[in-house]
Amino acid sequence: MKAEGGFQGPRVRVRTKADGRGKTAAAYLLILWNRRRTVRRVGSLGRVEFEPGFYVYAGSGGANVLKRIQRHLRPSKPRRWHVDYLTSGPGRMRPVDAYALPGFSECRLAQRLGRRLAAVRGFGSSDCRCAGHLYYAPGLERLQAAVEPLMSASAR
Ligand SMILES: [Zn+2]
Repeated sequence: MKAEGGFQGPRVRVRTKADGRGKTAAAYLLILWNRRRTVRRVGSLGRVEFEPGFYVYAGSGGANVLKRIQRHLRPSKPRRWHVDYLTSGPGRMRPVDAYALPGFSECRLAQRLGRRLAAVRGFGSSDCRCAGHLYYAPGLERLQAAVEPLMSASAR
C-alpha cells in the first residue's frame, strides 16, 4: 500500500505517548504535504488557496484518536470535516506524519502552533475561537520545529 493509504506506509509514522495505563485519549497533529499551489473548495469556508509546502492540522480524537488518524490517511471518505477536503480525491495533500498527543486539547495545540506558523483562517475552527486549526510552513523543517516542542510537552 502507498504511504497515504494506510497506517503502515513508509512515509507516515504515527507517534504516540500513552498515559502509562495504555490510554491514548488525545488530540493529534496531522502533517500534510501540498505538492503545488491549489485552490480548493473547503465546505463552509468556500474557496481557499493553498501554497506548495507543508500544513499541520490540529484535531481531537479522544479515545478514538488512532482511528481518527487512520481515517485521515484514507484517500477516499465522506467529506465531513474541513480537513477531509484536503486529504480526499484527486490532487489531495499527502500525509507525512501524524502525532497523537495525550494531555493536549486541539485548541491548545492550535494556539501553540500559531506562535510560530501562519494560520489558515477559520479552517477547522467553526466551533471555537481559534484563528484556525490548520497552519502552514513552506518547508518541513520549519514546521517540525513548531511541532517537536509540543511532542515533548505532551503528557506521559
Ligand atoms: Zn480551536
